[in-house]
Amino acid sequence: MTTRRPWALRIGATAASAAALVAFAGPAAQAATSSGTLTVATAAATADVDYATWQKDCQLVMDQALPEIKQRIANTKPGEKQAIVFDIDNTTLETDFGFSYPQPANKPVLDVAKYAQERGVALFFVTARPGIIYSVTDFNLKYRGYKVAGLYVRGFLDLFKNVGDYKTAQRVDIENKGYTIIANIGNSATDLSGGHAEKTYKLPDYNGQLS
Ligand SMILES: [Mg+2]
Repeated sequence: MTTRRPWALRIGATAASAAALVAFAGPAAQAATSSGTLTVATAAATADVDYATWQKDCQLVMDQALPEIKQRIANTKPGEKQAIVFDIDNTTLETDFGFSYPQPANKPVLDVAKYAQERGVALFFVTARPGIIYSVTDFNLKYRGYKVAGLYVRGFLDLFKNVGDYKTAQRVDIENKGYTIIANIGNSATDLSGGHAEKTYKLPDYNGQLS
């Protein structure tokens, strides 16, 4: 059984990992990533969530999401371009449980993503990760089987914005490209606030323990 390790330990052990790069992005990133900062501050003091529990909890949410997404895809309107928006860390990838690069996919979410992408739904990834790790993130997603229609990382000015506002603005941009966002899937409240998705699906973050 894999147990999530405290951030400080993980950063020391895997300085090259994408998650560590997010943490090292600097004071601006930390100030803007309130949940990330909380994780750093509290992980060592909080009981670790074990991997099996996390996977079971993710599966429960995706078991609810998949039939609804199937139904919505079956009811595609003429000319409609459907999209699903995903968070990355601890949503599509096993950020806080993986110590390798490329990070493993979060299997329950990958299963839903594959169902959708095989039926022509465009997958967009909206992350608080900074632009400096765009290419490692893009490679990681594709390597694990996600078909990436678009990847949104935070530019320099975005680092000073509220994460929820930044993520909402990217969904507006996706809509402006002509897509209907049938589902938005993430594990933090800031992934899902702000509307611009027909449905939202909340994976566990265990009170901010998972980024
Ligand atoms: Mg996340």
